[in-house]
Amino acid sequence: MSTVTIVGGGLAGSEASWQLAGRGIGVTLIEMRPAAATGAHRSGNLAEIVCSNSLKSIRLDTAAGLLKAELAILGSKLLSVAAENSVPAGHALAVDRELFSSAVTALVEGHRLIEVRRTRQDTLDLALPAIIATGPLTDPALMEELGRHFSSKSLYFYDAIAPSIDARTIDESRCFRGSRYGKGEPDYLNVPLDEDEYSVLLDRIRGADILPLHQFEEERYFEACLPIEVMAARGDDTLRFGPLRPKGLADPRTGAEPYAVLQLRQEKRDGSLYGLVGFQTRMRHASQVDMVRCLPGLERAEILRFGAIHRNSFIDTPRACVRWQMDRKQPGLFYAGQLCGVEGYVECIASGLVAALSVFARLCGRELPSMPGETLVGALMNYIHTERPDFQPMNANMGILPPARTRVRDRGKRNLMLADRALEAMRAYRNMHEWLFTPAAP
Ligand SMILES: Cc1cc2nc3c(=O)[nH]c(=O)nc-3n(C[C@H](O)[C@H](O)[C@H](O)COP(=O)(O)OP(=O)(O)OC[C@H]3O[C@@H](n4cnc5c(N)ncnc54)[C@H](O)[C@@H]3O)c2cc1C
Repeated sequence: MSTVTIVGGGLAGSEASWQLAGRGIGVTLIEMRPAAATGAHRSGNLAEIVCSNSLKSIRLDTAAGLLKAELAILGSKLLSVAAENSVPAGHALAVDRELFSSAVTALVEGHRLIEVRRTRQDTLDLALPAIIATGPLTDPALMEELGRHFSSKSLYFYDAIAPSIDARTIDESRCFRGSRYGKGEPDYLNVPLDEDEYSVLLDRIRGADILPLHQFEEERYFEACLPIEVMAARGDDTLRFGPLRPKGLADPRTGAEPYAVLQLRQEKRDGSLYGLVGFQTRMRHASQVDMVRCLPGLERAEILRFGAIHRNSFIDTPRACVRWQMDRKQPGLFYAGQLCGVEGYVECIASGLVAALSVFARLCGRELPSMPGETLVGALMNYIHTERPDFQPMNANMGILPPARTRVRDRGKRNLMLADRALEAMRAYRNMHEWLFTPAAP
C-alpha cells in the first residue's frame, strides 16, 4: 500500500489526509502542536480555526456559498463536519471552534489508515509523495528551508484576529437580535450606535496604542481582513461603510437603521462567547479593552480572547509549482492550503482536497484532470498557477470566474446564473472522472 506524508494538520492537511485515506492510501500526518506553538493556535487539535468562527455565507449567489456547494460535490469531509458543528449565524456557516476541531481530530486520529505524528518538521527531506500544508504560520525553520529550496525570500503579509467577549458581560437590553435584511434566523447580537457614539469609538480606535512591527517588517495587509485601526485611518466613514454598516439592520425598537451597527457573532454552541465581527486588530490589550468598553451595552465587557496580528507566509506558487500544486524542482512534493496562495478557511479546505486528488492521480500513474474554469475551485487553481509580478494569495470571489455569456444587470441574478453554470460543470467533472472519486474498499 502506498503511503503519503502530510506535514501540517490544519484545515488543508486534515482534509487531504481524510481524502487520501478514503481512497485506500496510507497517510502519515505530521503535526507539531501541541509541543510547538504557532502564536495563533491555542490547542493541540487538528483543523483548529484561528480567528473568526465563520466559514462565511452559504447562499449560492455568493462566492463563499458557491465554493461550499462545489466542495460538497467533490465530497469534502471537513465541510460536512463544519455543518454538524455549526452555531446559528444567519446565512453564514459558523462553527463552534472547539467542537469542530475536536470532531476532526477524532475522525482523523481514528482512521485506520492515518497515523498522526506529533513532531515538528524542519526540512523538506521527506519520503515522497508528500504534501506540505503548514499554513500561514509555518514554523520558521521550515520556512527558511523553503526559502533556500526556492532560492527566494519568503513572501508574506499580515492577517489579524478580532477580540471575543464573555456573553455574560454583554448588556443585551442595549442590543437587538437580527440578521441583515431580516434574512434567515435573527442570530446576531447588534449594537446600534448613534453619530456621537460612533465618533467616540472612532476617537478610541485612532488614539489606540498599536503594537509596532519589527524593523525589518513592512506593513502589508490582506485587503479583505484589514485591522480596524487601518480602516479607521482611511476616513471618518470607512467603518460605517465597512464592518459597522447599518444597511438592512433596522433597530426593531425604532424601526430605523441606526447611524452604525456593530455585529456580535456567537462563537460557541452554548452561547458563552461572542466575537466582534470585522474588528481584527493589532492594538495592545489595554487599548482593546478601552475600545470595546466605550460601546453601548459593552461597558462591562470582558475580553476572553484578544485580537492579534500575525505574519502570514506563502510561496510563489506560479513560479514554484507545476499543475496541480506540485513542486517544479521536486516531483512528488506537493503544497496545500494558505502556504500555496489561497486565502480563507474554505479555500484552504478546497486546496487540501485538490492536493489529495493530485497525489492520488499521480499514484494511479495519471495526471489530475483540470477542474473546470467556470467553477470557483477551478478558477482558484488557475489563479495560483498563473505567473504575475506581484503574486498575492486569493480568496474565492465571483470576479475570478469567466463572465456569463448573457448580460444580466441584477448582481444577485447574475451570480445565481454563474453558480448554476459552475455547479453543472462540477457535477459533469465528477461524472466524467469517476475513477478519482471511487471510494476504496473498506
Ligand atoms: C492570524 C490569522 C487570522 C486568520 N483569520 C482568518 C479568518 O478569520 N477567516 C478566514 O477565512 N481565514 C483566516 N485566516 C487565513 C487562513 O484561512 C487560515 O489561517 C487557515 O487556517 C489556513 O489553513 P491551512 O491549512 O493552510 O493552515 P493551518 O490551518 O494554519 O494549519 C497548518 C498546520 O501546520 C502546523 N505546522 C506549521 N509548521 C509546522 C512544522 N514545521 N511541522 C509540523 N507542523 C507544522 C501548524 O501547527 C498547523 O496545525 C487567518 C490567518 C491568520 C494567520
